[in-house]
Amino acid sequence: MAQVILLGTGAALSDAARENMYLLVKGERGAILIDCAGSPIQHLLKLKIDLHSIDDVILTHHHPDHLYGLPIFLMDLWLAGRKKELRVHGLPETLNAAHALMEAFEWQSWKPLGFYPLTFNPLAIAERDISLILTTPEFSVSAARTQHTVPSIALRIMSKRTAQTVAYSSDTEKCDAVIELAHGADYLLHEATSLDHSLIGHSSARQAGSQARHAGVKTLVLVHLPPKMRAAKFRAAAAKSFKGKVMVGEDFMRLRF
Ligand SMILES: [Zn+2]
Ligand SMILES: [Zn+2]
Repeated sequence: MAQVILLGTGAALSDAARENMYLLVKGERGAILIDCAGSPIQHLLKLKIDLHSIDDVILTHHHPDHLYGLPIFLMDLWLAGRKKELRVHGLPETLNAAHALMEAFEWQSWKPLGFYPLTFNPLAIAERDISLILTTPEFSVSAARTQHTVPSIALRIMSKRTAQTVAYSSDTEKCDAVIELAHGADYLLHEATSLDHSLIGHSSARQAGSQARHAGVKTLVLVHLPPKMRAAKFRAAAAKSFKGKVMVGEDFMRLRF
């Protein structure tokens, strides 16, 4: 069965219990990494994930907490013996930052040494559009632009086997784009960078609950959580407006779909 594994659930400023926010979508044969924080290889090996099963990386936006793990992840795949192509998908602004990070490490000089083919795939997503951005034998992934301080996308991942869906807000203020993208999803992973006060570019747990209610999802999973947050309080804040199941994400949590 397909699963989403939360590799990190912390906000940009995290704490000892959480890495920054990123996750893996794992099927029977292939996997997709979404954002790239922390120490991806160490986490993936701990979970006994086959590193060669990942052929696609989707980057939601170019803030450090979602991107800083990319150079070491790409380098480690090479050191682990990767030969086949890896594709990195993101908005042009996001890929510019990813590319600049790799340039800082002079990655072009790795190519003559046998670095595997790395392809940057810029996503053309119009405002207020929902675009299909990736299909694999097991998953289809759609995206929509959200409301953040830099261009950012939310994602909807469907398992082709079960037709069940997981939506992920990434970083966003409360916005209609996430409601439309997540409509009727089995899980909505929604950021909750605060408990109940508004932050520019981000959402509170209370707002995440409202988003889940309007989207009509089955289960809300709060992620991108601030330091020393109290899970019971966050759950209660979201449950004020959302009557479905509310979970508070934890690193290494698995959701089957
Ligand atoms: Zn973030
Ligand atoms: Zn951000």
